[in-house]
Amino acid sequence: MTDTSVAVIGGGVGGMTAAHELAERGFEVSLYEKRDKLGGKSRSVETEEGYPGEHGFRFLPGFYRHLRDTMSRIPDGDRTVRDNLVETTEMLRCLGDGEKVRSAQRTPRSIEDVRETVSNALWRDVVPDREHDYFLNRFLTLATSCDARWRDEYENVSWWEFTDAEEMSDEYRKYLVRGATKVLVAMDPEESSARTIGRMTVQTLSDILDSRRQVEILDGPTSESWIEPWREHLEGMDVEVHVDARAESVGFDGNRVTGVVVDGETVEADYYVLATPVEVTRRLVNDEIRKAAPSLRDIDRLKTDWMSGVQYYLSEDVPLVHGHGIYFDSPWALTSISQRQFWNTDFDRYDDIEGVLSVCISDWDKKGVLYGKTAKDCTREEIADEVWAQLKQHLNDGDTVLEDDVVVDWHLDDAIQHDESEGRCTNEEPLLVNTVGSLKHRPEAVTGIPNLTLAADYVRTNSDLATMEGANEAARRATNGILEREGSSAGKCEVYELEEPRIFEPFKKMDAVRYRLGLPHVGERTKELWKVFT
Ligand SMILES: Cc1cc2nc3c(=O)[nH]c(=O)nc-3n(C[C@H](O)[C@H](O)[C@H](O)COP(=O)(O)OP(=O)(O)OC[C@H]3O[C@@H](n4cnc5c(N)ncnc54)[C@H](O)[C@@H]3O)c2cc1C
Repeated sequence: MTDTSVAVIGGGVGGMTAAHELAERGFEVSLYEKRDKLGGKSRSVETEEGYPGEHGFRFLPGFYRHLRDTMSRIPDGDRTVRDNLVETTEMLRCLGDGEKVRSAQRTPRSIEDVRETVSNALWRDVVPDREHDYFLNRFLTLATSCDARWRDEYENVSWWEFTDAEEMSDEYRKYLVRGATKVLVAMDPEESSARTIGRMTVQTLSDILDSRRQVEILDGPTSESWIEPWREHLEGMDVEVHVDARAESVGFDGNRVTGVVVDGETVEADYYVLATPVEVTRRLVNDEIRKAAPSLRDIDRLKTDWMSGVQYYLSEDVPLVHGHGIYFDSPWALTSISQRQFWNTDFDRYDDIEGVLSVCISDWDKKGVLYGKTAKDCTREEIADEVWAQLKQHLNDGDTVLEDDVVVDWHLDDAIQHDESEGRCTNEEPLLVNTVGSLKHRPEAVTGIPNLTLAADYVRTNSDLATMEGANEAARRATNGILEREGSSAGKCEVYELEEPRIFEPFKKMDAVRYRLGLPHVGERTKELWKVFT
């Protein structure tokens, strides 16, 4: 144990990872979380009835390496939390006319399998052939572009522009361009950067083709299967965990952080890790701090959007599919998962429920089908009714998959607050979205102030998306910054690059030469030819 102290502010994945890495290296760590439990946006939802509540869309794609590594270092009985991950093997893609495409998520085993998997992923049966081929060309252009082109060109163009969505059919826009962004990560393709969405697309397709990379979820509510064992492990390493502890301001003497005021008391430490979400961090860092840490200067320019959900408690289980359901034509951009099939939870402890269907809403600004209102304008009851109606519209085609009378109860996330006088609801926990050109406004984990680092999902990382993986990687970078400044001999935390299929490497090298010569990617030429000949 060193006698160097670190105060971590915020107990989400970023803060917990920083506490974990620092405590393992002998630092004296204290963690301050404003809520009564840890986990932040990754915690499970609690209902008054004691039903197990969970966000609909909580999964680990195959390319998450940081998070899996951390999980493998958290004991849970005679296992580790890493062992609590289970594979999803299918995905259900639902279209508005009741058509449902169930696709296997296993690695293709034959050329025929590869063809079917890629065709499914790129909507060959739905999107006109010529546009499907066009999208494939754009995808291959991305996958074979050099890093500099990603950074300088794709960061400054929207996914919408990059994919030429304006010139294409409704199906192309809806399924290939918008579906992947709005439904999956709550971003609008018109304003999110081609770099962020492109990276996610390349990684997702690589996951499909690589047998070592599986989509996984936890085998129970996140707090039970991961966050609680994690807290126990941190406390076992002498991390002082303070819940119900809200940081109010950060003291600064023009050179160093002097303390953080938590519930009226000043907390002092040698180093400070701000692991608060972007909308809180921007309130905590005053002008003086921004001057001394210029990477924080533009933090106000980062944008957030809403992603939150409802759980339906059912008198009988409705498994739907062994994985996530994605409702591509739903105005509120819904995704769902039937939890029971993956959970170890003993449902005998509940008198009246046999299943939990968790649904995530990623578009809060479009009018719904039942009340003609946006989710932001609906009451809690209206949100629950509207989501159910949109699910039924997709699922009940001919046979009735969802019956109204199976709903025993429902719960809307507590982060969504309804204040009668306000008219519209508010969201206490929005999510960062990477808009075109926003990379330059995102700070590094290590700031210009010698004893201040940042560990949250808006920080610049290889992962590059506001996710649990991004928050974890940011915390590793923050820890490494402290180790460096401390001159510590402790080993650095691993920070992984995103792995891309080797097959693209020679083409990326060729593109690097073209880029240096000021030439466009060769894919741009095929794009022009496509326009001439179609
Ligand atoms: C509905 C939904 C579904 C998602 N699904 C996925 C998914 O499937 N996979 C994935 O990888 N990511 C997913 N994400 C994103 C992921 O949850 C977040 O990116 C990640 O949890 C962020 O972690 P963080 O530590 O950076 O921030 P947070 O989780 O926001 O943690 C910050 C913590 O700081 C605390 N805090 C705030 N203010 C103060 C204060 N003044 N003093 C003290 N503490 C304070 C907060 O209470 C919180 O606990 C999802 C997000 C949402 C909303």
